[in-house]
Amino acid sequence: MGDCFILLSAGKSKRFKSKLNKQFITYKNKPLFEHSLETAIDSNLFRKILIVSNKKINYKNVEVIKGGKERHNSTQNALNYLKNKKIKNVFIHDSARPNLSLNLLKRLKNQLNKNSAVVPYIYSENSVKYKSKNKINNLDRDKILLTQTPQCFNYRELFNLYKTNKAKITDEASLYLNNNKKIKFILGDKKNFKITTIDDLKYLNSQIYYGIGFDVHRLIKNKKLYLGGVKIPFHSGLKGHSDGDVILHAIIDALLGAMRKSDIGTLFPSNSTKFKNIRSKNMLSPVLKFLNGNNFSINNIDINLICEKPKVSKIRNKLIKSLSSLLSINKNLINLKGKTVEKLGIIGKEQAIACEVVCSLSK
Ligand code: ZN
Repeated sequence: MGDCFILLSAGKSKRFKSKLNKQFITYKNKPLFEHSLETAIDSNLFRKILIVSNKKINYKNVEVIKGGKERHNSTQNALNYLKNKKIKNVFIHDSARPNLSLNLLKRLKNQLNKNSAVVPYIYSENSVKYKSKNKINNLDRDKILLTQTPQCFNYRELFNLYKTNKAKITDEASLYLNNNKKIKFILGDKKNFKITTIDDLKYLNSQIYYGIGFDVHRLIKNKKLYLGGVKIPFHSGLKGHSDGDVILHAIIDALLGAMRKSDIGTLFPSNSTKFKNIRSKNMLSPVLKFLNGNNFSINNIDINLICEKPKVSKIRNKLIKSLSSLLSINKNLINLKGKTVEKLGIIGKEQAIACEVVCSLSK
């Protein structure tokens, strides 16, 4: 006698609006179902591993049977298939929960020594309301159990319950409770969440990109100084085709770099009269439009402003406030450091200001 791990992979994924069945969508570089399957194989806890799927799956030492119309039909198929196969307990798992851990499997297995039904749960982190007819009632969050899988049962007992069941059930725990059977509930694992919608997957599959930007402009008399999109009182301003805002230029280059979209010079050629005397914040907006339109979001921006004067500590808050508003991101995602150069070179002589920026984006 031994235990069987049953992986349910036949669902139609109605809440998952994609042509491809959810179980076969790529999550962390492999099909979703493979994650928990491999955990089960590597655990060496099972005499048999069974996948219920309507697709062809080839996996060494894993048996595949066809699924049914609903989840409970699929489970029923698996239980029928296991008849006379000397199975003591079954672990029934949803393939949409890829982060099954060995620790949880072992804890469940342990409890099966003393119980015929063991189900993992977690507490709800959200407040929960219950709708009945025209009224919405509060539920005590501490008394709400959110059940997870694998749900584990004595094979014979579950088989018999299924045999007489007519109701449509969403998990095996419901079947046990409907029949007033005792379940041992154990604390599950928060990471063992279920991927339900394509948005869940997009979020989980998001990638991080980094970009770097650098700029330097000469300081000249009779020009206003713009830094980070705001005017700063100073004896000189930055020479350039535009307002010479080194911070915004370096930010633009960093963002373009992270999005792998060339550089600021390609976007705004300095030989074009169209962009003469352009305010740099107007150069930033098409970049942000591209960023938002392509599902990028800014994780953080780190800025080194390199100059003797103006003193960065005096203008830091003003600059960060302006950048936060221009970039539409929280102030705490922007860091600005001031750097002097020991009076060396033209920056040391207060004849130029330079800036370097590193940014991180998610897509
Ligand atoms: Zn520039």
